[in-house]
Amino acid sequence: MSDCIFCKIVKGEIPGKKVYEDDELLAFHDIMPVAPVHILIIPKKHIQSLLHAQAEDTAMLGRLMNKARELAKEQGCGESGARFVINAGRDAKQSVDHLHIHILGGRSLRWPPG
Ligand code: AMP
Repeated sequence: MSDCIFCKIVKGEIPGKKVYEDDELLAFHDIMPVAPVHILIIPKKHIQSLLHAQAEDTAMLGRLMNKARELAKEQGCGESGARFVINAGRDAKQSVDHLHIHILGGRSLRWPPG
């Protein structure tokens, strides 16, 4: 997707503060962090949202979740905890239409969300 911000980060067309990259996945710091740990992990493949993922994406989604867990632990949240958030679509206030998991931690988070 030529006009997708996260695809542009994948292609190196706009900067991203990367914390992990492999052939399939990319993780980088959120530009407007809401917690001491706020990382986004995405598939490099453009998928609009979790609601748009297909059966063929199943294995990738498993690896995405595994890597999200590893990164949360690397960021020091293994004992204190972390929140893994996927906003999908308008009602969920998804603002970037490229599937991503927010990894949030480093402080006590409130619940429920608004
Ligand atoms: P969501 O509202 O779930 O779609 O989350 C999108 C997230 O992307 C927000 O937390 C934004 O702060 C973040 N974001 C937007 N543009 C960038 C960027 N260029 N680099 C890093 N994070 C970004």
